[in-house]
Amino acid sequence: MIQSLLIANRGEIACRIIRTARAMGVRTVAVYSDADAKALHVRQADEAVHIGPSPARESYLVGDKIIAAAKQTGAEAIHPGYGFLSENADFAQAVIDAGLVWVGPAPDSIRAMGLKDAAKARMIAAGVPVTPGYLGEDQSPERLQAEADAIGYPVLIKAVAGGGGKGMRRVESAADFADALLSCQREAASSFGDDRVLIEKYILSPRHIEVQVFGDAHGNVVHLFERDCSLQRRHQKVIEEAPAPGMDEATREAICAAAVRAAKAVDYVGAGTIEFIADASDGLRADRIWFMEMNTRLQVEHPVTEEITGVDLVEWQLRVASGEVLPKRQDELSIDGWAIEARLYAEDPKIGFLPSTGPLTHVMLPDHQVRVDTGIHEGGAVTPFYDPMIAKLIATGNDRPAAIDRLRKACETTAVWPVKTNAAFLARCLANEQFLAGTMDTGLLAASAEMLIPPNDVPDAVLQAGAMAITTRSLGVTPHQIGDTLIGGDLAAATPWTGAFGFRLNAVPQRVIHLLADGHLESVQIDNPWGQLDAWVELADDMILSGVNDGRVFAISEARAAGTATGAAADGAILSPMPGRIIAVEVAAGASVAKGEKLVTLEAMKMEHSLVAPFDGVVAELNAETGGQVSEGALLVRIERAEEE
Ligand code: ADP
Ligand code: ADP
Ligand code: MG
Repeated sequence: MIQSLLIANRGEIACRIIRTARAMGVRTVAVYSDADAKALHVRQADEAVHIGPSPARESYLVGDKIIAAAKQTGAEAIHPGYGFLSENADFAQAVIDAGLVWVGPAPDSIRAMGLKDAAKARMIAAGVPVTPGYLGEDQSPERLQAEADAIGYPVLIKAVAGGGGKGMRRVESAADFADALLSCQREAASSFGDDRVLIEKYILSPRHIEVQVFGDAHGNVVHLFERDCSLQRRHQKVIEEAPAPGMDEATREAICAAAVRAAKAVDYVGAGTIEFIADASDGLRADRIWFMEMNTRLQVEHPVTEEITGVDLVEWQLRVASGEVLPKRQDELSIDGWAIEARLYAEDPKIGFLPSTGPLTHVMLPDHQVRVDTGIHEGGAVTPFYDPMIAKLIATGNDRPAAIDRLRKACETTAVWPVKTNAAFLARCLANEQFLAGTMDTGLLAASAEMLIPPNDVPDAVLQAGAMAITTRSLGVTPHQIGDTLIGGDLAAATPWTGAFGFRLNAVPQRVIHLLADGHLESVQIDNPWGQLDAWVELADDMILSGVNDGRVFAISEARAAGTATGAAADGAILSPMPGRIIAVEVAAGASVAKGEKLVTLEAMKMEHSLVAPFDGVVAELNAETGGQVSEGALLVRIERAEEE
């Protein structure tokens, strides 16, 4: 068994790997960039080596520095995590050539599956059903167009070197093909340094089904059943679960067997995922599920598989890399219960899911009932340099409804400030009827966006909780002492942690009937003339945070809490949420815009983000120019509200 391990990654996956390594008695070495000097993975590892400036290209993607760090610390093996160098065959080879153990498949296996077209050709040869389409060498626009016409629209153009949901264009008709091809090739060249594409039939009612496979160096390959990752946004997974709803035994056996065949065809060793696309218009049927690609590494969503199988996949990775035989045979593996994961991102669903960077002053992640895999800590920060994932929340249950219910509650009680998160969006996704019925497809989130984006209104309970908090503070008492303090109204029965407290809001008497200590946030239940409302409140030094357990967090000023409630987006100032480059300006000064209309598109964190109008109005100020660099907080556009009728 290897005794020491360097983790060539950061964030939650580095922390996840450290957890298992530590439990196995393996010494851990972290690497970090400037931005990550105080990051959680650095604190958790036994040792840490600085490998360069913040941009990944100068640190986490520099193989030589990572190998040098391993040599310098005496680490025997390197685990690449996911992203970064995890699917880089040349790096895997360099690790091996340096006399170190590579925790992953052989470089040749990575290469075989690295390009989507070559991988599909290989799978066809292995008898695995693949998504119908064109994989040809001939990349002339005429030939590609002719192939698309022959496949029949809609088609999907994909960069052969693509990944992370980038480099894909859905094309509806022959007339749109040429433009879509050009833009896809451009994106492919700039993101992957390779503009070659393949064309696939766009599968209607698509569901993303993938199978976890595992191989060892002794020729054994098993599968650990399937995951369903159909809740996606822009081809990127948002919520993942295992097993897949509506999967019958025969279909499961067929696709899991196909996945094992696929892995064996490339002599696969270690953890891998075979991704399939299913046409679910008539349920999940074995003859309508096709191979899409293989990810030759540990997957972001691996925890749901761990939860239903009881297997620690990182432990298996370390054992297999050390030359051991797979700890279990196929007939020793089974599915127990249901598991579901949500990716909590630092992003703002209200402004096109733009990543939200800044200090993590307040972080409340659910701490019981769910597994939380995270790489951040309160007092840390989300920087613009890396993927803005804050945590993965993983819930389990005896059945699907129980697991979903638990995860929804976990998302609802998540509170992070001032960085914005998608917690409320996730909670809404988990309450979506189609999703609950298990009849979703990959288009669901886009089609239901209107309903899933959290509303802007400030709930009464939040204002009232804020008013209470302000009252508390002005009395100089802590919320815990409120039970002993009666300002007015009726006194309700008091038990430990339960207080009774009354105050006036706009001359209306309010009565607080419960005040519960819940971590460092206080849950308040308020009885008022309009009924009972729930809210939590936190007294921070310079502000009051409150929420109503729907995943939203509000910062309340005294004026706001005192009853001057206006919409949360009352202010029409559109600020740049992060440093970036303006790539499109969609409006002119003085123009009328409708709520939700695109104003400016910004490129930051390798992604394009559109800033939209928060309400109907007129562009009163415009400080954005195509091509211009903008700093965080720069005022780009100011919208003046349209006169109310
Ligand atoms: P998964 O199915 O595991 O989400 P992806 O290919 O979408 O697979 O990417 C996995 C993770 O790797 C992403 O969530 C992201 O954090 C990271 N990642 C993907 N592409 C890149 C990249 N080009 N640079 C850095 N990290 C990346
Ligand atoms: P990436 O390497 O970026 O993960 P994939 O080939 O795995 O690329 O595709 C990403 C997502 O795009 C899939 O999960 C699925 O939602 C969608 N997709 C891919 N191919 C098709 C297809 N032929 N028809 C419909 N949707 C597809
Ligand atoms: Mg994929």
